[in-house]
Amino acid sequence: MRGVTDSLFAVDISTMLIVMLTSNLLMATVLWFAFAGRFRDGLAKWTTSLGVQALAWLMFAGRGHFSDLISITAANGLLALAWSLQFAAVIEFRRRPLPHWLLWAPTAATFVLFMLLLDHFQLRLIVSSGLFSAANVLLAAVLLRIPSHPNLRAHQLLAGCYLFVALALIARGIGAWLEPGAFSTTLTPNFLHSVLYLGSYALIVAGSLAFLLMHKERSDEETTRLATTDPLTGVFNRRTFIELAEQEFARARRTDTALSLMMLDLDHFKRVNDTYGHLVGDQVLVSFTNLLRDCVRRGDLVVRYGGEEFCVLLPATPLAAATALAERIRNATTSIPPTSLPFRITTSIGLTTYAGGEHTVLGDLLARADEALYRAKDEGRDRVIALSLIDRGTAEQGALPLENTG
Ligand code: GH3
Ligand code: MG
Ligand code: MG
Repeated sequence: MRGVTDSLFAVDISTMLIVMLTSNLLMATVLWFAFAGRFRDGLAKWTTSLGVQALAWLMFAGRGHFSDLISITAANGLLALAWSLQFAAVIEFRRRPLPHWLLWAPTAATFVLFMLLLDHFQLRLIVSSGLFSAANVLLAAVLLRIPSHPNLRAHQLLAGCYLFVALALIARGIGAWLEPGAFSTTLTPNFLHSVLYLGSYALIVAGSLAFLLMHKERSDEETTRLATTDPLTGVFNRRTFIELAEQEFARARRTDTALSLMMLDLDHFKRVNDTYGHLVGDQVLVSFTNLLRDCVRRGDLVVRYGGEEFCVLLPATPLAAATALAERIRNATTSIPPTSLPFRITTSIGLTTYAGGEHTVLGDLLARADEALYRAKDEGRDRVIALSLIDRGTAEQGALPLENTG
């Protein structure tokens, strides 16, 4: 153990506690200054935890000046409270319900434990190292248990800080067990104590930055979602669809695969609004979107193209398969909720397929599907019209042939 418990590389712990206290107060002040009045998603609890921790360091630093009840029992109780507040902050960030015992039970348990072990220094150091270490591992595990999240870096950074402190605590516990003389007080300068206090300092600074980054990542995601999707139905908006459709079109051309485009427009939708109001109209739009989502495959693109007009882009789908899908959608539309309406909701669908041709552009596909939709409306609605697409170069030599499946 020599080398890890002797004074080599040892920082002065009292100085370290003052530095940590200052960092806690600085971080808490910065967060309060930046977010006061608009704290959300755990930021208030995180800021409070920094303040509570500052008080705990102050009590630790006053060892010998304050009574043991304050500098040991209450100080460790406050550390447990700070941990609870950070745990609660992470749960609040995840927008999960907060277990009501979380904020008081760990603090009360720590207080009682340290009262019981007040006269057993070595045992206290080993037990508290183990318990605080387990608590930090638990928090790290909660942070890392986020399924299928696109960006986890800030979560991983924060979890990494907790795991580092957990490891340092375990090392300190083992050190105190094997070489009690090197740990005669919690302020004894030695290598393991230095690692622990520097790790705790890193948790204050890097951990708070990581928690802030988690918020930034979330607000970036929300901004992207707002910019790319339709707020009512949650499917892509027109601008994003065109960008993605251009990519799919380029891929279809490159790989020489079929690409089908469906345009759908609800029939007499104005009547729904006029008779039952816009809220029912909105409900129908959401139900129709859910139906589209249920019918398509992964990789197909659904977009709200306009008010009650939608598009579905179907990569690697020839005209016959797209027509069959369109018929399924048309059929299913008649039973979408709210079924209490005295008339059925129906949809007209126009579709076309790109099946090769070097002069064709995405605009041709959109125009042809629109033409098909127009014909479906013209021919009485509640039907599917599929038109084949002829490459511009070929089309110039004659009229486009027409397939009508409606
Ligand atoms: P057609 O069969 O010819 O398509 O008739 P229509 O009544 O569906 O077509 P029209 O274009 O005359 O009317 C579309 C209606 O869609 C008018 C508009 O109030 C409604 N609409 C557009 N966006 C929304 C929306 O977000 N919510 C609701 N409730 N209605 C919408
Ligand atoms: Mg309509
Ligand atoms: Mg319309």
